[in-house]
Amino acid sequence: MLDLSYTSPTPKVIAGATGDWELVIGLEVHAQVASKAKLFSGASTQFGAEPNSNVAFVDAAMPGMLPVINEFCVEQAVRTGLGLKAQINLKSAFDRKNYFYPDLPQGYQISQLYEPIVGEGEVLVEMGDGTARMVRVERIHIEQDAGKSIHDMDPNMSFVDLNRTGVALMEIVSRPDIRGPEEAAAYVVKLRQILRYLGTCDGNMQNGNLRADVNVSVCRPGDYERYRETNDFGHLGTRCEIKNMNSMRFIQAAIEHEARRQIAILEDGGSVDQETRLYDPDKNETRSMRSKEEAHDYRYFPCPDLLPLEIEQDWVDAIKASLPELPDEKKARFIKDFGLKDYDASVLTADVANAAYFEEVARGRDGKLAANWVINELFGRLKKEDHTISESPVSAAALGSIIELISKGDISGKIAKEVFEIAYTTGRDPVEIVETEGLKQVTDTGAIEAAVDKVIADNPAQVEKARANPKLAGWFVGQVMKATGGKANPKAVNEMVRAKLGG
Ligand code: ADP
Ligand code: MG
Repeated sequence: MLDLSYTSPTPKVIAGATGDWELVIGLEVHAQVASKAKLFSGASTQFGAEPNSNVAFVDAAMPGMLPVINEFCVEQAVRTGLGLKAQINLKSAFDRKNYFYPDLPQGYQISQLYEPIVGEGEVLVEMGDGTARMVRVERIHIEQDAGKSIHDMDPNMSFVDLNRTGVALMEIVSRPDIRGPEEAAAYVVKLRQILRYLGTCDGNMQNGNLRADVNVSVCRPGDYERYRETNDFGHLGTRCEIKNMNSMRFIQAAIEHEARRQIAILEDGGSVDQETRLYDPDKNETRSMRSKEEAHDYRYFPCPDLLPLEIEQDWVDAIKASLPELPDEKKARFIKDFGLKDYDASVLTADVANAAYFEEVARGRDGKLAANWVINELFGRLKKEDHTISESPVSAAALGSIIELISKGDISGKIAKEVFEIAYTTGRDPVEIVETEGLKQVTDTGAIEAAVDKVIADNPAQVEKARANPKLAGWFVGQVMKATGGKANPKAVNEMVRAKLGG
């Protein structure tokens, strides 16, 4: 039986001339380990450094140089595996993947083909419409990144920058469980969120620290379920792999385009060739890079320079004990402890720093009110100015005291926005602002009564009308609020006005 939480509630269907088609997608995400040093050398991984300034002899593949494993990188891979609730393999091994390319001085990449460090795990993918589903992770292995060839600096020469050579990557391979472009993007977003919570990868796609190879095939309705029940890939269509995508938008566009290209071929009576393609965002199309026939023969073999990697269960347990609260758990806790709506809890936990800020604002206060203020006022304002939470001029403590002032009835929601504005632009303390600017809500019934009496006395014609039609009482409330500069407690004013008019 198929567990429904593992199937997509919203698979993308594309109508063709010969009937409907469905999409099947599997992602290979390359996540750069957040480590100061490379996987097998002590060279720095700093981004944007002077070309070829972060290159150890072993990165440059000088004769006789031997790789030495960086324990910290291994730890991050294990941490990532644990964060994806995956099996951790106490024994794994490194293999050489041989190919010739100028940015790969060794002539091979050290990777893990046969025995990866992490086995099966899963990622809960949430869609914007409130639906969620599980995507299976097949494995995570550790490998070296390559350098960078630069072809556009000189008309006659190519350059190579080896700073990236040997940087540790985690390749996170999903099962073909992703069923549409939006789901693919949501999967990458969720994966990035988990990696950032764990601190194992900074997830900066622009710097290339997170990139995805996207495998796409199409099939007929029902075929995917047959594959899931039998585990027989024969039910699925032939896939193409689109290499090196580093933007959510491009991932979606490339999948959409690639699926339509395959459908056109199939409907024309042709067959899809398994090949590697490149996406061209300018033309919004994928182009063949190499077909399976001309695919590299990588001549994988166990790396003779490195012993198999054996780790202790105690070490794994210690890493597990040090894991932070992860997004799914944090979100569930926010919903439970602060009474938040699912959507608000997702927004607040999307980023770990945002979540921490919210928690400080909400702790011991009205959680829903706090969520409203953090999301709508603060995030809205920060976004407009392109600021992150750490740059917020209003601290969590300050926003917390605004929430308290509202809850206590000291200020109305409207005045609170004024206080927030002053606090945001000047950095002043909300309690002090309310005091100094005399913004405290008037709850003193004597003062409110005087204001109500004055408005009634000044507007005899309106009083006449309101007595005939009680709905018009609202006008008096408005006048009193205006007269008190918005500081009167609206509820008290309302009651007072109705009592006076009714009498
Ligand atoms: P390879 O060894 O050629 O890279 P893998 O079996 O490791 O192939 O699969 C690579 C990726 O392709 C995985 O993410 C997997 O889920 C995905 N994949 C496999 N078959 C299909 C298919 N028919 N359609 C879409 N994706 C697929
Ligand atoms: Mg692969």
